[in-house]
Amino acid sequence: MSRFLLIGPPGAGKGTQAALLAQSFSIPAISTGDIFRANVKAETELGLAAKAFMDRGEYVPDSLTNDLVRDRLSQGDAKSGFLLDGYPRTSEQVAELDSMLEAAATKLDAVVLINADTEELVRRLANRAIEQGRTDDTEDVIRRRQEVYAEQTAPLIAVYSGRGLVVEIDGIGAVAEVTARILEALAERGISA
Ligand code: ADP
Repeated sequence: MSRFLLIGPPGAGKGTQAALLAQSFSIPAISTGDIFRANVKAETELGLAAKAFMDRGEYVPDSLTNDLVRDRLSQGDAKSGFLLDGYPRTSEQVAELDSMLEAAATKLDAVVLINADTEELVRRLANRAIEQGRTDDTEDVIRRRQEVYAEQTAPLIAVYSGRGLVVEIDGIGAVAEVTARILEALAERGISA
């Protein structure tokens, strides 16, 4: 029965850690980025609408993103817990998620913030561009995504800190090391798989 958010700048390793944590807690990892990419690939209406924003490193409009998450969270496997990777990213999305949780009479257990310095982030994303060929991993777009994160998403950390939910993790190190840090920090708060 765990409900988590994963927040962090592009390249911090959210996707990797999300999959590992979701497995540990037996909850679905829900990545808005992955869902958008799957829609782009399948050329759905949502994918076509999202692609132009994603390719520029801009956020997809809140209305589309909120509908997508509302729909995904209403599915059976998310009823008893979930890990949201990459949502919410704007204050509008925070308000929307609050109302979804309230309507379901549930609340978040923790917001895991994965941090890393910009140099390391840019280096990792440049590598991923070579390995995965993501169309939003070009240098200009990487820089824009970092800016958009700093402008729109970083301020949300204070909101969740004010609610006592933030668990901050150093994202530098081996994947397993970072996972261990997260599990330890959650356990310290009495949250364990
Ligand atoms: P990263 O965190 O590395 O930028 P993601 O895979 O999480 O990558 O997201 C890729 C892109 O998908 C974002 O740059 C944005 O265009 C879109 N996206 C994902 N999640 C959201 C969201 N919550 N709100 C708006 N756009 C989003």
